[in-house]
Amino acid sequence: MIEVSSLSKRYGNHLAVKNANFSIKKGEVVGFLGPNGAGKSTIMNILTGYLSLTQGKVEIDGFDIMTDPELAKKRIGYLPEIPPLYLDMTVREYLYFIYDLKKVKFPKEPHIDEIIRLVRIVEVEERLIKNLSKGYRQRVGIAAALVGNPDVLILDEPTVGLDPKQIIEIRDLITKLGRNHTIILSSHILSEVQAVCKRVIIINKGHIIADDTPENLSKALSSDHSLVARVIGKSEDVEAAINSVRNVYSIECLGEFEAGSKDYRIVPEGNADIRGELIKRLAEKNKLTLLSLTSNELTLEQIFLRLTGEDDMGVYFGNTDTAQEEQPEEISEITEESEEEN
Ligand code: ADP
Ligand code: MG
Repeated sequence: MIEVSSLSKRYGNHLAVKNANFSIKKGEVVGFLGPNGAGKSTIMNILTGYLSLTQGKVEIDGFDIMTDPELAKKRIGYLPEIPPLYLDMTVREYLYFIYDLKKVKFPKEPHIDEIIRLVRIVEVEERLIKNLSKGYRQRVGIAAALVGNPDVLILDEPTVGLDPKQIIEIRDLITKLGRNHTIILSSHILSEVQAVCKRVIIINKGHIIADDTPENLSKALSSDHSLVARVIGKSEDVEAAINSVRNVYSIECLGEFEAGSKDYRIVPEGNADIRGELIKRLAEKNKLTLLSLTSNELTLEQIFLRLTGEDDMGVYFGNTDTAQEEQPEEISEITEESEEEN
């Protein structure tokens, strides 16, 4: 559905996207994850035809965004970082306006009715946009992206600035839309991407540094295959049971973290998956109860930090929009170029 090859984008002397390659299949829900300034919005603006590319090729459903922009853009619904809402219009007026702008062919009223129902803004459809909460405004932005029923939705930081309840509502909406659309969303917040995306493209300083499922990223980068078992029962019995499992390299009792039980770190030989047998052995002994078994795989957060070589989480993932400011020498270029680009 989306093919990006050797994509680069230069703003003045600043290379904001460096030789990016990825393809996204129909129906995928993919997250762009990266700190502020990584190049997420730049890539999205290029995919949606809002920004020209410096080098490379972008195809949407087989249509080249540079040579066939009309046909390529028809297939995309875009929620920009700051949706251009007309505050003095009512929700319905605004969606009619977008409908006209996009020259949509479906019958107007039923099409907009359907979108209003889908994104759940029925109760505010006659209200002026300026009187809506941020959560509702974001829904209106998503509704606008859905006008014309495009296959692909590109959502730039769809939950930024929302309160926790609104975040959950927008996430649920994205999950629902993911059943019928190919979706790319961006975020600088890990939990966000993890909650809705089956595939994560990690971007850092204009480079794609990883592209996989959250689980695979975690497995591939984790050198620690140890497990932690929380078990009720006498330590000698627990250790004897664990020792009867094949391919156990070592056991260490970590102490009591939950009353009446103890945690044991179990290191398998090599990459052996000992979980099945371990659970069986512990279950066989009727004086032992296995409360939980967890693996020590990395969280997406740890993966990101490992990949980027950064360890100051506060900078990248302290839920702020101002974190990770630009290098001073890049700022002058940005201001010069901004006028040209917009
Ligand atoms: P993200 O969306 O990941 O936060 P952006 O794509 O907005 O990142 O920005 C990537 C880099 O390009 C940053 O260094 C940013 O300052 C720069 N940049 C973004 N837009 C412009 C522009 N219009 N002109 C010049 N530089 C820009
Ligand atoms: Mg951005």
